[in-house]
Amino acid sequence: MNTPKTNLPEQINALLPQTQCTRCGYQGCEPYANALANNEVGINQCPPGGNTTIQALATLLNKEIKPLNTKFGEYQPPSVAIIIEQECIGCTKCLIACPVDAIIGVSKMMHTVITEECTGCELCLPPCPVDCIVIETTEKKYNPILARQRHQEKQQRLMVLQQEQRERTHKKKVALMAMMKAKKSHFV
Ligand code: SF4
Ligand code: SF4
Ligand code: SF4
Repeated sequence: MNTPKTNLPEQINALLPQTQCTRCGYQGCEPYANALANNEVGINQCPPGGNTTIQALATLLNKEIKPLNTKFGEYQPPSVAIIIEQECIGCTKCLIACPVDAIIGVSKMMHTVITEECTGCELCLPPCPVDCIVIETTEKKYNPILARQRHQEKQQRLMVLQQEQRERTHKKKVALMAMMKAKKSHFV
């Protein structure tokens, strides 16, 4: 029995680093892979992947090797975020921003990065109101398959939450309209 071939976006995505850093200009590795599969974008826009990823993409897509387009950022070796815990005020903003759920903590309590799951994407840095997150280079490499899975799970969870929020807003609107209608008919 022949093993079914994975489709092109899937093959491309498998070559991407899965940091989910958005530096390529897309909301994660998968949308960049889709754009590459549609020939809409250059193969040299992924700073975490650097030359290794460019070479792999050039081979798969039969394209010319180009240097990394530094408009999207400079190559950065594997890194991890570290929270200076004594300075953390527990605002949860980093936790919300982390695309792979590598931060744990509860509101008003100290937060911590799970080092093995952190991709070094740096998305937690800008939201931190007290600048207590630092990035350090590391020898340890996160697992890209796990990072991809955790990103997908987070995306799905956010979609459910957004849908629930939309439903709540809709219900409130309907209730408000019914109340206004009732008031109007009371005064007629
Ligand atoms: S690692 Fe970052 S820059 Fe590279 S494809 Fe993924 S999201 Fe884009
Ligand atoms: S902890 Fe920060 S740097 Fe690490 S994956 Fe999460 S957002 Fe990215
Ligand atoms: S954003 Fe900064 S202060 Fe807020 S929980 Fe994260 S590390 Fe702590």
